[in-house]
Amino acid sequence: MKLDELTVRQIKGVSAQKEQELHAFGVHTIADLLDYFPFRYEDYRIRNIGETKDGEKATFEGKIMGNPLLQRYGKAKTRLTCKIAIENVLITAVWFNRHFLQEQLIPGRDIVITGKWEQHRLQMTVSDSEFPDKGKARSGTLQSVYSVGGSITQPWMRKMINQALLQYGEMIEEMLPVELMDKHGLMPRKEAVMHIHNPEDIAMGQAARRRLVFEELFLFQLKLQAYRTINRKRQDGVAHVVDGESIRVFVRTLPFELTDSQKKVVNEILIDMRNPSCMNRLLQGDVGSGKTVVAAIALFAAVKAGHQGALMVPTEILAEQHYRSLQKLLGGVGLQVGLLTGSLTDKKRRDVLAGLQMGLIDVIVGTQAIIQEGVNFRSLGLVVTDEQHRFGVNQRSVLRRKGMNPDVLTMTATPIPRTLAITAFGDLDVSTLRERPQGRKPIQTNWVKHNMLDRVLGFIRREVEAGRQCYFICPLIEESDKLDVQNAIDLHIQIQQAFPDLRIGLLHGRLTTAEKDEVMRAFSENEVHVLVATTVVEVGVDVPNATLMIIMDAERFGLSQLHQLRGRVGRGAHQSYCVLIADPKSENGRERMKIMTETDDGFEVSRRDLELRGPGDFFGTKQSGVPDFKLADMAADFGVLEDARDDAAELTARPDFWSAAAYARMRDVLRREQLFQGELLD
Ligand code: ADP
Ligand code: MG
Repeated sequence: MKLDELTVRQIKGVSAQKEQELHAFGVHTIADLLDYFPFRYEDYRIRNIGETKDGEKATFEGKIMGNPLLQRYGKAKTRLTCKIAIENVLITAVWFNRHFLQEQLIPGRDIVITGKWEQHRLQMTVSDSEFPDKGKARSGTLQSVYSVGGSITQPWMRKMINQALLQYGEMIEEMLPVELMDKHGLMPRKEAVMHIHNPEDIAMGQAARRRLVFEELFLFQLKLQAYRTINRKRQDGVAHVVDGESIRVFVRTLPFELTDSQKKVVNEILIDMRNPSCMNRLLQGDVGSGKTVVAAIALFAAVKAGHQGALMVPTEILAEQHYRSLQKLLGGVGLQVGLLTGSLTDKKRRDVLAGLQMGLIDVIVGTQAIIQEGVNFRSLGLVVTDEQHRFGVNQRSVLRRKGMNPDVLTMTATPIPRTLAITAFGDLDVSTLRERPQGRKPIQTNWVKHNMLDRVLGFIRREVEAGRQCYFICPLIEESDKLDVQNAIDLHIQIQQAFPDLRIGLLHGRLTTAEKDEVMRAFSENEVHVLVATTVVEVGVDVPNATLMIIMDAERFGLSQLHQLRGRVGRGAHQSYCVLIADPKSENGRERMKIMTETDDGFEVSRRDLELRGPGDFFGTKQSGVPDFKLADMAADFGVLEDARDDAAELTARPDFWSAAAYARMRDVLRREQLFQGELLD
């Protein structure tokens, strides 16, 4: 039997009832219990009185001097005091509501007390005490503190874990290859588990933790790197046959010269596409860095190679917008571009589906709908996803089941801090657009209070008179699309009243597709001067003549959302502005406004966002792919994470990793992961 096949009932003291309660902590097996690590230690080591500062928590060893004094007060409250000699100092020990200790406080007896030390009064308020003549349980040790609750208490948890160590400690198996333990000076797993629960001293506890953190991060990286390796080895993707000349001819049809960054990234993508293994590439670039054109070139290449391409986006507005821009870019060189969204009529939908199946449509743009059941391609070569954060393993499986294994390019405008890039996206190759197209001026961002609305309106007037256009974004009501819409309607009325002579558009999620389309068309053709909108314009919308972005109640938005919204302007040659209207009360809100005014570099914004929020919250969703680590702390253990990544990449690239007995344990781990079952490891 293995430790992860034995239930906790095998431990003396774990009843059926307690077993149930342990499940709530994710503890089912003996292995789970042994891996239920403490999150800190309580220090019961004996301290020297002279070295203990006022107010500190400490443990002293001493002798009882004189008889205890018991006072009762209130309803059932007691205060017990006693003189104790610590070294050569006579102090007063105070216990609250522990009157039962009175008879044990016998003059001359040794005692160990733990509590808060008040130096000037030579007094300790005792929280724990022990008599060495009855054996010492705690004193002199570091006690593990676990996350507990319900009827499961600290002492019970400690006892059960120690019981498990006693009964099964010898069966703890090594997970890591010896060479890695040697390389990083890590202790064996068995020792690490013993020491993390019962460290002799802080250094030992830390060394044990370091070993286990490495293991956790290494196994995580092993999965990502194995996925990459397997993927590369399979060579069952689409090897696009693309000639460089036709790409160059196409690029020459573009109304601008590609930036050096764009050229470099296009080359990286084309190399992957020509390769018979599946491309899994992340393209990150700040808003406005020109990702769409890069996607268009890749899609063009797929079609030139005799396949079809798909562009997948999160919303219908975006789908329509991209459909229009791809039609402009690709339609001109003879490609058939189609649009597939949920709101097509049945007939239209049938036509599009038939077109895809027969290969009449070269490039399809749409939401998730494009990879769902019932959508068949003649030959899908490339999927580009925009702003989806992640084309999941699941989505890839859906395609595989349909016999398709296209190259995948994931585009994101949320520049991913390095920490997250190698955790959430550790299995992807990354391309980065570092520069924005030439001639772009930095967006000037200002933060104003609500009472300055008049000045903001004046600003709108100035920009419109100069021929430019504005966005006015409504406050965001969390979780309430309905209230957001109401806000937009109210704000629209207010702005229209302020500017009776201007055309004010309104865009929100409750409009029909045709209505949204019409508003966006009118705005992009400068028939509408000011567009009042909810966050539906957050991603992707591209109207280069718009130069002013005003965000109402900006404190309600997160940093990356504010940056995305701001990215709707500054997309042409004109100087652009962003005005944040906010009176934030929270310090965090003020900090966000400050960051926005200090930088318009998305990498910097997201770095500071990560600092403010912490990685768990960064993407706001589970799909981010950032796991909840048991021990590891992404910020503090970043160095370890990098080591683990490098080691895992090196190991999985070695042929003997997939066969040698020494790595059987690790291959087991991979096989047990859903990610690698059947489909990937056979
Ligand atoms: P992103 O999707 O990265 O936010 P887009 O691809 O929408 O950015 O590009 C932003 C704007 O810049 C678009 O209007 C696009 O036509 C334009 N653009 C893209 N590449 C260049 C370039 N190399 N030179 C000039 N303008 C460009
Ligand atoms: Mg875009």
